[in-house]
Amino acid sequence: MPDGQLKSKRLSPAKTPNKPLFSIRARLIALALLAIAPLILERLHGLAQARAARIEQAYSEVSELARRGAETQREVMASVRTLLLVIARVYADMPLEPSTCSKYLANLTSDVQWIRGISVAGTDGRIKCATDPMSVGLNVSDRPHFQNALTSREFALSDYIISRTGQMPAVVASFPAVKDDGSLNGIVLAVINLKWIGELAAAAAETSSASVFMLDGAGTVVAGSPDQQSFIGKRFADNALVRDMLANDSGTATLPGFDGLQRIFAYLRVPWTQARLAVGLDENVVHSGIDRAIDFAYLQLIAFGLFVLLVAWFGGEQLVVRPIRSLVRTATRFGRGDLHVRATQEPWVAEFAPLAAALDDMAGKLAAREEELQIANAHLDELASLDGLSGLANRRGFDRAIEREWQKARQNGQPLALMMVDIDHFKLFNDRYGHVAGDTCLRAVGETLSLVTIDEAILVARYGGEEFALLMPGLDIQRAAALAEEARQAVEDLMINHAESPCGHVTISIGVESMVPEEQQSFADLVEAADNALYAAKRSGRNAVVARISEPLRAAS
Ligand code: GH3
Ligand code: MG
Ligand code: MG
Repeated sequence: MPDGQLKSKRLSPAKTPNKPLFSIRARLIALALLAIAPLILERLHGLAQARAARIEQAYSEVSELARRGAETQREVMASVRTLLLVIARVYADMPLEPSTCSKYLANLTSDVQWIRGISVAGTDGRIKCATDPMSVGLNVSDRPHFQNALTSREFALSDYIISRTGQMPAVVASFPAVKDDGSLNGIVLAVINLKWIGELAAAAAETSSASVFMLDGAGTVVAGSPDQQSFIGKRFADNALVRDMLANDSGTATLPGFDGLQRIFAYLRVPWTQARLAVGLDENVVHSGIDRAIDFAYLQLIAFGLFVLLVAWFGGEQLVVRPIRSLVRTATRFGRGDLHVRATQEPWVAEFAPLAAALDDMAGKLAAREEELQIANAHLDELASLDGLSGLANRRGFDRAIEREWQKARQNGQPLALMMVDIDHFKLFNDRYGHVAGDTCLRAVGETLSLVTIDEAILVARYGGEEFALLMPGLDIQRAAALAEEARQAVEDLMINHAESPCGHVTISIGVESMVPEEQQSFADLVEAADNALYAAKRSGRNAVVARISEPLRAAS
């Protein structure tokens, strides 16, 4: 592969890997969230169930209250029935005078607090005696409960009435007085005070802040807890809750009450009557408790989620991101050539240890490879600085050496001497003896120059063609000139035949210069001066040394 191609391939930037869509940390967090998701869903499901259970519990609470109310009502009715039965029996067998009858009735009912008044009517509907004397003579034949008792000869109850006096709901119970022979002697009527409803309502309102009200069969409110008092006597036939209640014997509903407040209601038909008793709990009150618990649970979930995220974030940082960053830092230092760093010096989690070891191994191999390359480079450099024919330094080697020596001489304030040598009439030598002989001659001159200057010259170079250059640090012009003269003489003494030369053998001309480098000077000045001296030596007739142009040491012979 050509060098250029190799270079361009090596230098082409490394392909940047596609940036992953999610960082490792983001994936860790996603994993953590996935792990806790079922937990959170389970908790949310639990909360929803708890909420439903609380509402269910509210329904059973109100149902139980309504049931108890209706049960109390039934018990009251049962005792009223027993009482009326006794009165009816007595009245059937021995009709009393109205005044005696009234006394008797008053005696019987004085201890029964829920009976407001009791009266006896004849089969024609006229009241014959009563605890309230004002009632005597009234005609009740048109009342449904009277007719009911008359025809069925059984205990009958009126629908609810609200007494004009105490805003208290009441019912009228009718019981036929049947004689032993089976004929009807009259109907015993009792106004039953439903004060207990108010008591029940107040008790319910106190224990569970429930609203209680009672409707008659037509949808009129006949009793209620304190908060429902203002609706007593009003008819709500069109109200959704009332319609629902009148349509069923019992049930539950979450609907607005008469005051517009949403409530969880349970209702029941009161035994023996068309009345409905309803108990309602404020939906907000029911919900607020559980909603507070749910809000708190949500907060807990959020805190837990955040905690998991933090753990994933910092755990990911500590366990994955930090080691990777450290490995990247180490690899970057390797890339910059700092191959003595070792990744394994840090403590690693088990998964990263092999990677760190592999990096170290790679760095070790790179370091060995670099050392080999440096040696090879140094060798190549040396080869590149040598002249193949003479084995001396070449022009490149000379250029590098003179630059280096010039700097040294400048720093030390020492002279640097330069000899420029050129073989005389060498073209003619070549022409006469051929190129191969010319090469041999070149080698011989080079060797001689090296030998003569072995102690003084730091470098003997083939400057080009049949020219040589010698660098002698520390030599002043006189010593350099003397050495040059020695060299010239040594070559002459080689006595290499050169028929075309005036003296019959090979000679050289030498230009010498020595300088203590000054600030404004460069080594090119030294080369130029030595070159000029060489030129002067040539002009002086060759086979001569000129040390500085002004000082020719030996004229051509
Ligand atoms: P002068 O005395 O003025 O230096 O005359 P010259 O003939 O030596 O100088 P010129 O520059 O005219 O000729 C130099 C010759 O050196 C020309 C060339 O054939 C010869 N030469 C240069 N390099 C080599 C080489 O590597 N081998 C051989 N055999 N001859 C070389
Ligand atoms: Mg020449
Ligand atoms: Mg020459």
